[in-house]
Parts: sequence; structure tokens; C-alpha cells
Amino acid sequence: MLSFTDARQVVIRHSSAQIGNRSTTLLELSNALGYVVAEEIRSDREYPPFDRSTRDGYAVHSGEASPGAQLRCVGEIKAGDRVTESLQSGTCVQIMTGAAVPPGADAVVMIEFTKRDGEMVTFERGTETSQNIVARGSEAHIGDPALQPGLRLGFAELAVAAQVGATSLRCYKKPRVAILSTGDEVVPIAETPGPFHIRNSNAVSLAVQVQLAGGEPVLLGNALDRVDDLSAKIEQGLREDILVLSGGVSMGKYDLVESVLSSFGAEFYFDAVAIRPGKPTVFGRCRNKLVFGLPGNPVSTMVTFQLFAIPAIDILGGAEARALPFLETTLAGALNEKAGLTHFLPARVEWSDSRPRVAALRWQGSGDIAALTQANCFLVVPAERPMIPAGDRVSVLPRFDVL
Ligand code: AMP
Ligand code: MG
Repeated sequence: MLSFTDARQVVIRHSSAQIGNRSTTLLELSNALGYVVAEEIRSDREYPPFDRSTRDGYAVHSGEASPGAQLRCVGEIKAGDRVTESLQSGTCVQIMTGAAVPPGADAVVMIEFTKRDGEMVTFERGTETSQNIVARGSEAHIGDPALQPGLRLGFAELAVAAQVGATSLRCYKKPRVAILSTGDEVVPIAETPGPFHIRNSNAVSLAVQVQLAGGEPVLLGNALDRVDDLSAKIEQGLREDILVLSGGVSMGKYDLVESVLSSFGAEFYFDAVAIRPGKPTVFGRCRNKLVFGLPGNPVSTMVTFQLFAIPAIDILGGAEARALPFLETTLAGALNEKAGLTHFLPARVEWSDSRPRVAALRWQGSGDIAALTQANCFLVVPAERPMIPAGDRVSVLPRFDVL
């Protein structure tokens, strides 16, 4: 059975082989959050465009502003002021944060380290060349790349686009991800469930996870555990870039997902991963589309989506597969799990005096979503190290929507 890291590599390999000519769309910055940029954006100016003061203080010749020295203040420069005149020897100019340093001045002294008496300014400390000045062009030169294709747009990336005057960006269209739950017991959330029915929570969690991951969810509802219904809805799902199914991949008599996919000519790259929850996860290709069959227990669905579906969405969306952001921290209470599988236990990291500690949460197994609402991460119990004493270092995988 594959380890989760090997299974991810399989997903990454086949997703990379899948990308052809991706279509793009031009988006205004306010609509582009979470998209992957498809063009290179270059700096249109030097940044900063002028020698910029980073402090409120006095622009000086550094050699003249030694401790105890006095200089006559001959004017002031505020942010946005046009600056042309050079600073004359024996003088200083009051300057504000964000203002242009006048030619000739080579340092800014913070106002806190000066005394002002009328026109005269006394300096209290030594002054070094360039202090509190960011030189013109030191952040970027004209023509330097500001954004590279493949970068996902978050607040910093969008701010850089704004800084260089790119009011809209050509982005890759989000991969469309069909979501199909399965199960005779599963009913739409707006319906009153019968005594042995379960509301379709997976359709909701999967749609949200797809969106957060940078995909566009396409909701196909639920298929009954019957070949005809499953076939019709899988057929619909195979029109999208990726099809994600939940349920129907275990060993039960009515777990029909793999056999129906096979009847469509699917090729499977794995149908089990050495993890708990999530062992019966299926990944393959069908009619040239990527297909995931995730186990239906809600926590299994969520964990396996994060582990395996996200890299496919990243790659089909024009980005690189993001790494799993494991963090190492200290275990609060001893653990004893089954060997041979890597466990992802709902857990909570908390910080006291900025030091993190993680505790596994009490849960009823992989159906227990309520437990997950208290969790901000999954505690990773390695397959080969099932017993871990309290106080040991352990690895956690943050929930990608929370931490
Ligand atoms: P399965 O993977 O089909 O064997 O389902 C495993 C468990 O997950 C069963 O207890 C199902 O009732 C539950 N389950 C399956 N699909 C869903 C769904 N869409 N929403 C909530 N629970 C589900
Ligand atoms: Mg089922």
C-alpha cells in the first residue's frame, strides 16, 4: 500500500501530465483573489521611485550630524513634495516618512534623537551613511518581474500588481471540480431526513474545500448506490476538469464507484493509501479527466481532500502543488494508535507564552465532524511510531482553512 507521500507524488505526476493549453481570463484586481496569474507583470518604475525617508526626522550630510553637532534647519519636505534643491553644507531639512530625500543628503536622523531650538537642531547620536533611507530602485528596477506566471494571488501579490499599475491581471481559469456524493442514505440538506437517512454534509464541505483550494465547485448532488444512477451522474462529472466522488469506495456490496468508473474505461493509479482515516482513497483517470473517489465518512473525506485533491487543483489551476505545511510541536498527552498506518487525528494546537502544544481531541472516529469543529490541525502519528509519550515532538498538519 502507498504511503501518503508516495500517493501525493502519483497525483502530482498524473496532474502534471494532464495540463494542456489552459484557458485564461482577464480579471480586475478586486476579483482576482485566489486565482493564479498567467502572465509576467513587470515593474513600470524604479521602486522606490525616489530615495525615500523611512522616518520622521532630519535629512543631513551624515558627516555633519555627529553627537553634539548643531545644524540649521532650512526647510521641510513632506511626502509627495517635489524635491530638486540640494542640501547645503551646514544645514539640515526636516523630513517626513515617505518623503523624498533631497540630493546631497545621505542620512535621515530620527526626530527622537534630536533637540530643536528655533532654527537650530542638535544631534544626540552618531549618524551613519544611508541610515533611514531606502535608495531609489533598491526594491525593484524598471522591467524587473513583479509577478511571475504560476503565482497564486493573495494580498501581497495583488498589492504588488497595484503598485506597478496593473489594474487587471490575466489569470488561469479555475479548474472546474465536479462534486458527487454517493449513498442511498444520503439526502439533500434542505430535506427532512428519514430515521435512517444522513444529510449530505460532504457536498458542502467538499464545495468549500474546492473553493478554498482555488477550484470552482460544480455540484452534482448525490447518486444512489445503483449502477444506473451512478453511471448517469459520473458521466456528467466527467465533463469537468476533475471529478471528486465521496463514498462508495470501501469493501461493501454496494460500494460501486470503482466498478462503475471501470465500465467507463477508468485507469486507477491507486485505490488504497496507508492512512487512517482515508485508507480506501481512489485516484485515477477516466475519459482523460482526473477522478478521486474519497471515502464517505466526513472526516475521511476532508482529510483525503486536503492530502490528495489539492495538489491536482493546484496543478490544473496553473500553480505548483503546494507542499503540506507540517509543523513540529510538543505533544500534550500520550498516544497509542494502530501501527502500519499514518494517522491524522483531529487535534488542537494551543499557544502559551508563544510556545505551541498539541492535544488530540476525543472523537468517535471518522464520522465525527463535530469533533473537527474543535480541531485546528491533524496530529500526525507515523505508521512506524504508533506509541508516542507526552512531551515528545510531533508533527501536525494545519487545517488549511483555519491555520
Ligand atoms: P461509504 O464511504 O459510502 O461507505 O460511507 C461511509 C460513511 O460515511 C457512512 O456512514 C455514510 O453514511 C457516511 N457518508 C457517506 N456519504 C456521506 C455524505 N455525502 N455526507 C455525510 N455522510 C456521508
Ligand atoms: Mg456508501
